[in-house]
Amino acid sequence: MERPDAMQRVRRAHTETLLAQLRSAGPLSRAELIRLTGLSRTTLFDIIGDLITRGVVVEREPELSGQRSRGRPSSTVSLNPSAGRIIGIDLARVTITVVVATLSHDILARGTRAVALTAGPARRADAAGKLVDDLVRDHQIDLRALEAIGIGLPGLVSGRGRSAGASSSSTTAKQISDRIQDRYGVAVVTDNNSRLAALAEGTWGAARDVRDAVYVRWSDGVGGGFIVDGQLARGAHGAAGEIGHVSVEPDGDPCPCGGRGCLELLIRPTALIEQCARRGVVVQDPADLVAQTHAGEPTVRDVVRGAATLLGQVLSGSVVQLDPGKIAIGGVLAQATDDTVLEPVRAEIARLAIPRHPRRVDVVRAQFGDEGGAMGAVAAALRLTATDSLLPTLPMG
Ligand SMILES: [Zn+2]
Repeated sequence: MERPDAMQRVRRAHTETLLAQLRSAGPLSRAELIRLTGLSRTTLFDIIGDLITRGVVVEREPELSGQRSRGRPSSTVSLNPSAGRIIGIDLARVTITVVVATLSHDILARGTRAVALTAGPARRADAAGKLVDDLVRDHQIDLRALEAIGIGLPGLVSGRGRSAGASSSSTTAKQISDRIQDRYGVAVVTDNNSRLAALAEGTWGAARDVRDAVYVRWSDGVGGGFIVDGQLARGAHGAAGEIGHVSVEPDGDPCPCGGRGCLELLIRPTALIEQCARRGVVVQDPADLVAQTHAGEPTVRDVVRGAATLLGQVLSGSVVQLDPGKIAIGGVLAQATDDTVLEPVRAEIARLAIPRHPRRVDVVRAQFGDEGGAMGAVAAALRLTATDSLLPTLPMG
C-alpha cells in the first residue's frame, strides 16, 4: 500500500508534467493534454479541477464565430496570465539585468544597470532591488502576484532550491538571495549565471527542441552548462558546466582556479587580442575582434579559428561523454563569422568524437545574448513554482 507522501509525490510529478506542457506549448485542449502528458483522463481532469480552483490555470471556451458550428469545438486550458509574476535577475560582475515575466511566459519588462565591480553582496542585492522597483513602477506591474525570483550569479553557486538551501560554500550567493528574499518575501532560487543561460537556451532558445544539450558562453569568462534529459545539471558540488577550466595544456600556465593550461586562459578575448598584437595586428576590444573576423582580417581570423579549434576539442569530449543533440555557443565571440567559430568546432567534433559512430550534433549560435542569464533565472523560478508547496499559495483566480 502506498504511503500518503509517496502518493503526494506522484501527484506533484503529474502536476509538474501538466504545467510543463502548458508552459512550453501554451493553451491546450484537455484531449491534447491527455495525449501529451500520457495521464489518464480521470487523473488529468482531477488535477485540472484543482489547478483551476487555485487560480493557477484557466479554462477558456472557444469563441463562436457567426453561426453555430456543428461539432462543438473544445475549450482550452492555459496558465492563468494574471496569476503570477516571476522575476529573473542576472547579477553579473559589472552589470545587472532584470526580466519581469508572467507565469505564462510573457515578458512584462526588462532592464539593465551598471554595478561597481567592488560592490559587496548587500549593495549588489540592493541595486538589483532598485532596478526591479523602477521597472515595476515604470511598467505599472502588480507585484502582489509575485511568485518567485531567480538569481544568476557568477562563480560557484550551489543554491539548489530555496535560498535557505544555498550551500555555505557560497556565502555571497546566500547573502544576496537572503536580502532579495527579505525584500520581496517570495521563494528565491540561485544558480550560476552561465548555467542559467544554458537553461534559457534549453527552455526557449537554440536548444529548446532537444532534451540533451551543451551551452558554452565564450566571453572573458568561458563558462557553460549541460542540459541532461531536460534538466540543468548542477553537479554534486554545484560546479557542473565549467568548460573553461578543462585543461588543454596540462603543463601550461597556472590558472586562478588552481589548475594549469585551462581552456579559458587560452581562448578568452583578452588572450586572443594579445596573440593578434604579437603578430602585429591591433585589436581594440572583444567587439573589434569580432568585427575584424567579418572584415576579413587574415591574422585575426586565423587566431579566432585556432581558438575555436581548441574549444571544439574540449567540446568533442563533452560529445563523447554526454551525447548531446545540440551545442549552443553564446557570448561575444559567438558573433564572429561562421567559418571562424562554428565550423572549426563542427570539424573537431566530426574528427574526434568517435567518428566511427557518426551522430548528428547541431552546433549553433545561442539565441539569447546578454539577457540569457536573466531569462534562465526566470526559467529556474518558473520550475520552482511548478514543483511543490508554492502551488497552494497562488492567489485565487
Ligand atoms: Zn582554470
